[in-house]
Amino acid sequence: MNRQLPIAGPAEVRAAAVRDLRADRGAVAGLILVNGLASAAGLVGPWLLGRIIDTIQTRSGSGDVLSTVDRLAFGALVFTIVQTVLTWWALKIGYRFGERTAARVRERFLQRTLALPARRADQLPTGDLIARGSTDASRVALTLRSAVPEVLVAIVHALFLIVAVLVLDVRLGLCGLVCLFGVGAAVRWYLRRARPAYLAVAAAGAELADVVASTAKGARTIQLLGLEDRRTEATESAITRARSAYLGALWLRTVLFPWSEVSLGLPVAAVLLAGGGLYLHGSVSLGVVVTATVYLRQLVGPLDTLMLWIEQLQGAGASYARVEGLADVPGEEAGPDVDPTGDRIQVENAHYSYTGARDVLRGVNLLVQPGERLAIVGTSGAGKSTLARLLAGLDRPHTGSVTIGGTPVADLPPDRVREHVVLITQDHHVFHDTVRDNLLIARPNATDAELHAALDAVGAAWLADLPHGLDTELGADHTLDGAAAQQLSLARVVLADPHTLILDEATAQLDPRTARRTEQSLAAVLRGRTVIAIAHRLQTAHDADRIAVMEAGELVELGTHTELVTANRTYGKLWHSWHGPSAPETT
Ligand code: ATP
Repeated sequence: MNRQLPIAGPAEVRAAAVRDLRADRGAVAGLILVNGLASAAGLVGPWLLGRIIDTIQTRSGSGDVLSTVDRLAFGALVFTIVQTVLTWWALKIGYRFGERTAARVRERFLQRTLALPARRADQLPTGDLIARGSTDASRVALTLRSAVPEVLVAIVHALFLIVAVLVLDVRLGLCGLVCLFGVGAAVRWYLRRARPAYLAVAAAGAELADVVASTAKGARTIQLLGLEDRRTEATESAITRARSAYLGALWLRTVLFPWSEVSLGLPVAAVLLAGGGLYLHGSVSLGVVVTATVYLRQLVGPLDTLMLWIEQLQGAGASYARVEGLADVPGEEAGPDVDPTGDRIQVENAHYSYTGARDVLRGVNLLVQPGERLAIVGTSGAGKSTLARLLAGLDRPHTGSVTIGGTPVADLPPDRVREHVVLITQDHHVFHDTVRDNLLIARPNATDAELHAALDAVGAAWLADLPHGLDTELGADHTLDGAAAQQLSLARVVLADPHTLILDEATAQLDPRTARRTEQSLAAVLRGRTVIAIAHRLQTAHDADRIAVMEAGELVELGTHTELVTANRTYGKLWHSWHGPSAPETT
């Protein structure tokens, strides 16, 4: 499959934004209404100012002019206060709406991530996924919290001012609007280039995160193989790409802002000039010219806000597209709804390739009977883990089949697969929670006695040393070391009780004695169940019913320990050369 995470198209982002606005339509309606009232209140002040000027000009000789001016000025003050209060109220509604919507976006992302089938999630680039869930989701949240309320306030305010200046004097209004053309051109120029630029910034950031994360994850291998210089080079070139993508977006801003700042001054200058001319011809009063000028001057405020946020909105739009893109990760094709009949596992002529170029499994045939303990051995890169993934239904072979009870295991939905087969690797996870809750994930209705029994079964003697027993908060009261953490995850498996268990380096972090004890305890608990263990110690293979030997993607030997030792081929030679008290490694 395509390993890149999809990005939602502009139409999908618009649809998602509309959905988010609709989900809180009461707040959006309130926001627009209160904003409208605030903007209407804001129009009264300049209008009263015009009236004051006209009053002074036309009635300068009469005695009541002062009291009229006082009344008009008092009115302007009252409406200014009303506008301030309404704007504060509108912003409050807006910020609350923003917080709720941001929470909704984050929850949607989390749900989509958790709903990804394991076999898909495994193949996705981790750095990109983390960047989308953290940086991108935060950016969307910040925008929803701050930009959306302020942008809505600015749009409503600007519309009111434009309508007001047109109503006041259509000639002056049109003159002002025509001069806004420069701002429109600047915005159009910017918008045409902004989406790809911001998508490039986000993609370069995610790539950088990926490079850094994989370097940190593989630090030991890098040190062992002396690959430090290559990793430094890869990181530096990822930084260079991120920097140049960022500079590209920055350049767009350095053009937009000066261009729009100059353009915003034009309407005021034009109306002053045109209004002055009209006033001299006596076709408009001085008050109207002043009011229109003040309205257009006020228009600079909301338009400035829009300019400032337009950049943020472009960045957030790209982030929104990345967050929403997760919805486009192809789901699982629903397989035929059939139940496996029995617990027999069969691999028939399985071929598998990660890249499509080279088969890392070639014509593997294997039949595992219920209750059998099978060990898979082989050199590093022979394909053992890949076979384990196919057996656990994490992927399907491109040719041949892997079935449980006659049903292709990859056709089963994840919750049904878990009832049949569980893959345990050394990637275990301890949740920041009590020991009890860490275990109940596997079987929510298990009793304390069952939890104790499960921990006993995997030899987790450390439970007795915990300050609060099962109620000990892991990560807070107590930290488990690697071996104990693995035992905890093995205890979960004991509780989940699948009929087949695949162990892939599950005990690799335990010291040999603990590992052997854990494996033996597990085998005792899972008696009558199928256990397929990728064996890195020949002793583990020796304890199994049968051993499968893999070499370069092929299953080259299959039989009991005695049969393979007698045959004296790959396994037999290994056994003879390493056999001894030291529990030798196969890889
Ligand atoms: P080890 O004992 O070292 O874990 P293994 O026998 O389990 O080795 P696999 O991990 O199954 O071997 O790998 C088989 C082949 O597939 C190797 O050549 C490996 O480089 C390749 N391979 C493994 N995982 C991937 C992957 N995610 N993408 C591409 N190739 C991979």
